[in-house]
Amino acid sequence: MKITSINPVNGQPIKTYTTLTEQQIAEKIEQTHTAWLSWKKTSHQQRRTLMNRLAAIVRERKDELAVLMANEMGKPVKQGLAEAEKCALTCEYYAANGEGFLADQLIETEASKSYASFQPIGIVLAVMPWNFPLFQVFRFLAPALIAGNCGVLKHASNVPGCALVIEEMIIQAGFPAHVFQTLLIGSSQVEKIIENPHIKAVTLTGSTNAGMSVASKAGAMLKKVVLELGGSDAYVVLADADLENAAEVCVTSRLTNSGQSCIAAKRFVVEESVIEEFTSLFLQKMKDQVMGNPLDINTDVGPQSRADLRDELHAQVVKSIEKGAVCILGGEIPEGDNAYYPPTILTNVLPGMTGYEEELFGPVASIISAKDENDAIRIANDSIFGLGSAVFTQDIAKGERIAATALEAGSAFVNQRVQSDPRLPFGGIKTSGYGRELGGFGILEFVNIKTVYIQ
Ligand code: NAP
Repeated sequence: MKITSINPVNGQPIKTYTTLTEQQIAEKIEQTHTAWLSWKKTSHQQRRTLMNRLAAIVRERKDELAVLMANEMGKPVKQGLAEAEKCALTCEYYAANGEGFLADQLIETEASKSYASFQPIGIVLAVMPWNFPLFQVFRFLAPALIAGNCGVLKHASNVPGCALVIEEMIIQAGFPAHVFQTLLIGSSQVEKIIENPHIKAVTLTGSTNAGMSVASKAGAMLKKVVLELGGSDAYVVLADADLENAAEVCVTSRLTNSGQSCIAAKRFVVEESVIEEFTSLFLQKMKDQVMGNPLDINTDVGPQSRADLRDELHAQVVKSIEKGAVCILGGEIPEGDNAYYPPTILTNVLPGMTGYEEELFGPVASIISAKDENDAIRIANDSIFGLGSAVFTQDIAKGERIAATALEAGSAFVNQRVQSDPRLPFGGIKTSGYGRELGGFGILEFVNIKTVYIQ
């Protein structure tokens, strides 16, 4: 089977790769298992040194990495540079804190000594998406390797160059051979890998359908899974919000990564007394964003990653309009052999419309009117997803109460857009998945929490 990367700016093929055969996959997993038998015995000091070296290499190569992402999936280079920096910070964060997170925890019992110790489990299979082609992988690999695990990566088929350069940088940093390997394969080859006895756990970031498929197989094999899936994050804008700031933050969030972020705001639930003013500010700021070639440092919005996904997004927009939504910006496919889609705003969005019910994975905003605060919270929670959420109000105590107790999501921010941070746990509820990445919680997902009891 072949995998071809395609530049979404012009539809031109970049490079074609041959996927691994079943036998080649099995051999690579065997190599990684052998590597793990030694890697699990390495000291924290050794792992820390290598992880910090990896961070330095990512920084040294950041320009090249940003261009690679721009070419393979259309990420504007200024965002690609920021993504590379975040990968480096994540490596440094786990290098600095891994030993502390994994330190034995003494527990008082009748024993002369009893404690929880955190042991590596083996090889973790990572199935990853194209939207943050570096960071999604780094936020899995940094804690995994620091914990003494090994990893094999099945990356999205449109970013094979990114998948290979990650492995290359790990080798360049001096990690022992095979502790991390990229497997260039199609999604139909994943099930067989999950069956391999050396694979001890699976982490998947991607769509809900992919999550269900991989989790079913892993469940049948009794292997632990962490799932980071889709989202339709609601940002609640209350009547007492600083509307100028709210509109600014909402636009930034909606257009991050040209709209293709799981934690991009997708639904804007606005109290009716301020919806007109908010919509007008939001519209102006959406218009100010520059759509263009991702290699241009001034570009805010690049093409979508693939033309077929752009077409699916457009179909969702059309369906919403057919059901009564009003398109006040964008909504048309530009001419030419490319994957561009312009910043688009749908107003009058109601239940039953795709803009209300489904994830819009591109630069399309759904503005939804709410009668009051309680109605806004009800609408925000009226979703199958539960990844991120935010509330805008100048009453900080009220904002905190709503964020902490009312919004059904894995994270809730007040007067700020949802962002991942290596220090904070990240993940969702409902069909947005389960388990957590990042922070101290993330590193403990794939360890054996072992009780040690000494009489
Ligand atoms: P996707 O189509 O689900 O692909 C994600 C990964 O899963 C790719 O490597 C893909 O391989 C693989 N895959 C797809 N179907 C599979 C199956 N049945 N069995 C095994 N592997 C399978 O998702 P995407 O289009 O790349 O990414 C967009 C989705 O990811 C959105 O829904 C977004 O919200 C979500 N996402 C979530 C987070 C989060 O942290 N919660 C972060 C980023 C993105 P192929 O490329 O070969 O098909």
